[in-house]
Amino acid sequence: MMLEVNKIFAGYQKVKVLHDVTVRVASSEIVCLLGANGAGKSTLLKSISGVISPEKGQIMFGGERIEGKAPNHIVRLGLSQVPEGRQIFPSLSVKQNLLLGTYANRLKTEAQKRRIEEAFGLFPVLKKKFNGKAGSMSGGEQQMLAIGRSLMSSPKMILFDEPSLGLAPLVVRDIFRTIRQLREENMSLMVVEQNAKSTLRIADRAYILETGKVVKEGLAKDFLEDEEVRRRYLGR
Ligand code: ATP
Repeated sequence: MMLEVNKIFAGYQKVKVLHDVTVRVASSEIVCLLGANGAGKSTLLKSISGVISPEKGQIMFGGERIEGKAPNHIVRLGLSQVPEGRQIFPSLSVKQNLLLGTYANRLKTEAQKRRIEEAFGLFPVLKKKFNGKAGSMSGGEQQMLAIGRSLMSSPKMILFDEPSLGLAPLVVRDIFRTIRQLREENMSLMVVEQNAKSTLRIADRAYILETGKVVKEGLAKDFLEDEEVRRRYLGR
């Protein structure tokens, strides 16, 4: 198992959000996390990436306990995040944004160059606009930059928070295709999405969170055919 979240409780001071949440992601697996606004999906991602510390429970990544560890430590172990809203720096160049993704691993210049070349392979637009300002790119290109930046740490696993948010349908298709491609390269992926149908089509397994609890888990293909899931989450 690549990631094991075992019975965690987490929240923000007095606001208890997650209650006894258990979620697993195997190697080279795409797991989709569904749930209404406020269900706790982002809180779960933040607990995994080390932005917040769970009050209770255990999180194992690659066999090592990571709950409560600092985010840069977790990135160095090979767990990276593409945050909601992409969080790129618009006034910095594409190059500078990519380099920001290398700092947690304290990469040498040669290794940086290699990683950047790999990102170019996946997203040629990053090469084309390498010295341009990130803020001058389209939303889809900025999302590719955000993914490229997360790849700079050579992750074994990437957490995606709403990768399709605000993007045109054609671009969304590219992003989902990219996520599948990352799986082909043996990465594990966890994807939080409002765009449930498209995500279930590329995912292996899925979990549904409601008010901070896992209320359903199963194979993504079964979710696509489940009447209740379709009615509540797939818009029919
Ligand atoms: P969304 O799709 O809206 O992002 P979500 O499922 O990701 O929803 P969370 O963002 O995890 O949900 O939020 C879960 C609950 O935690 C919500 O009730 C929210 O108001 C609360 N919450 C989120 N961030 C904080 C914070 N920094 N301080 C206090 N409460 C917060």
